[in-house]
Amino acid sequence: MSAEAAGDYDVVILGGGSGGYACALRSAQLGLKVALVEKGELGGTCLHRGCIPTKALLHAAEVADTAREGAQFGVKTTFESIDMAGVHAYKDRVVSRLYKGLQGLVKSGGIDYVEGSGALDGPNTVVVANRRLTGRNVVLATGSHAKSLPGLEVGGRIMTSDEALSIDHVPARVVVLGGGVIGVEFASVFRSFGAEVTIVEALPRLVPAEDEAVSKQLERAFRKRKIAFKTGVRFAGATQSGDVVSVSLESGESIEADLLLVAVGRGPVTEGLGYEAAGITMDRGFVPTDERLRTNVSGVYAVGDIVPGLQLAHRGFGQGIFVAEEIAGLSPAVIEESGIPRVTYCDPEIASVGLTEAEARETHGEIETQEYNLGGNGRSQILGTQGFIKLVRRKDGPVVGVHMIGARMGEQIGEAQLIVNWEAHPEDVAGLVHAHPTQNEALGEAHLALAGKPLHSHA
Ligand SMILES: Cc1cc2nc3c(=O)[nH]c(=O)nc-3n(C[C@H](O)[C@H](O)[C@H](O)COP(=O)(O)OP(=O)(O)OC[C@H]3O[C@@H](n4cnc5c(N)ncnc54)[C@H](O)[C@@H]3O)c2cc1C
Repeated sequence: MSAEAAGDYDVVILGGGSGGYACALRSAQLGLKVALVEKGELGGTCLHRGCIPTKALLHAAEVADTAREGAQFGVKTTFESIDMAGVHAYKDRVVSRLYKGLQGLVKSGGIDYVEGSGALDGPNTVVVANRRLTGRNVVLATGSHAKSLPGLEVGGRIMTSDEALSIDHVPARVVVLGGGVIGVEFASVFRSFGAEVTIVEALPRLVPAEDEAVSKQLERAFRKRKIAFKTGVRFAGATQSGDVVSVSLESGESIEADLLLVAVGRGPVTEGLGYEAAGITMDRGFVPTDERLRTNVSGVYAVGDIVPGLQLAHRGFGQGIFVAEEIAGLSPAVIEESGIPRVTYCDPEIASVGLTEAEARETHGEIETQEYNLGGNGRSQILGTQGFIKLVRRKDGPVVGVHMIGARMGEQIGEAQLIVNWEAHPEDVAGLVHAHPTQNEALGEAHLALAGKPLHSHA
C-alpha cells in the first residue's frame, strides 16, 4: 500500500530519543516519508540527561583522580578543587556540539520534525496540538523517566540523576539509593569530586545484574576508594530538615547526608498517551513486542526503553534501525537481547556481554570459566589498574559470556561482542595475534588460557 493511500507518512515516530531518531534517520535513508514528534529536545535522555552528560562528569572525575595520583607516576601534581561551573561548562559544550550535529542530521535527512507533545488517536494517527499525523506505520519511542520509591518524594536535597546532573556544588556527604549502573556511576563521580559516599542497595551485591565475580571486584575496588556501601539493606524513609537529609533503613540504621540520590531504576513514559485506547497491550506501563518489535496492533511498533529489557541507548539505536529496515521490507536479522554489550563507566569500569556464569549454567548445564588477571597485562600495569577478564564457555563449545572489570575496559567490549555474537570458540580467538602492549591483549590472553595454552597468566 502506498503512503498516499493509507496516510500522510510511511512512518510516524513518537519520541525523538535514541530509539526514535535512529528510526527516523534510517527510514529517511531508505526513502520513506517520515514524521518525528518530540516534545522536549531531540536526542532524548541519552544526549541531554543520560549517557553523554554523565560520561563527561566521569571524565572530569578521572582528571581529578589523575591530578591526585601524579606522584605515583613520578609527576608532581596536586589536586586543588572542583569548579562545578567549569565542569558544567565542559559537559554542556560536549552536549551542545552533539545536539547541533544531530539537529543537522535530522534536517538534512528530509524528516518532518514536529515539535510538541503527541498522543495516539487510534492505531495509525498521532495528534500534536491541532495537527493529525497519519502513518502507514507508527513507532512508539517515548522512553523512560527516573523512578522513586513509594513515599519518597523527589525535591530539595532528594534528587534523581536529572537534578544531580546540574548540581552547582560538590556535596560533602552523599547517600546513593541503588547500586545499579546509574547509582555506581554517580557514586564514583561524587567520590572523585571529594564527597563521602554511601551506597544503599537492597539486593545482596552492587551491580546485581553483572556476574558475581565482577560485583565482588567492584566492591573491593570501592572499599579501596573509600566508597561505603550497604548491600542487602532496604530503604525505610527519608526526611529533610535544614541542610540535612536523614535516610533511615529497615535495619534501624540512619545515615545523614547533604544529598540523597535516588537511582532505583527507570519507568516507561507511556501514561496518558492513548496507547491502551488504541488497543495496544501493555505490561506494567511497558509496551511488550515480539522479536520483530511489533506490538499486538498491526502497523504499530515500539523501540527503546518502553520495550521490556535492557534500557540502553545502543539497544534503542539498534531497534530503531531494525524497525526502519523492517518497514522498508529489508527483513533485518532479529536483535538478540543477550548479545547486546553493557558498559558501566564507574572507576573501575565494567564491561560485559552475553551470559553470566550463573545464567550460562542454567541455560547450558556444563560450562567452563576462565579468569585472566590484569596483573599479567603490561598496559594495565602501566595504568596502575587491577581487575580481570572472565570468560564463560559452553563445555567444549563457544564463548557465551565475557565479563571485564578494570580501568578503560569499556573500550574492550567491541571484540568481546564479536566473540560472543559470532559464537567463537576460545581456540579460534587464541589463534589471533593481539597487539602488544594493549589492554586488548588481555582478551587474547584470556582465550589462550581457556584454550589450554596460557602465556602470562597469574593465579
Ligand atoms: C543517568 C543516565 C545515564 C545513562 N547512561 C547510559 C550509558 O552510558 N549508555 C547507554 O547505553 N545508556 C545509558 N542510559 C540509558 C539511555 O539514556 C536510554 O536507554 C536511552 O535514552 C533510551 O532511548 P529511548 O529513545 O527509548 O528514550 P529517551 O531517550 O528517553 O527518548 C524518548 C523521547 O521521547 C520524548 N517524548 C516522550 N513522550 C512524548 C510525547 N508524548 N510526545 C512527544 N515526545 C515525547 C521525550 O521527550 C524524549 O526525548 C543512561 C540513562 C541515564 C538516565
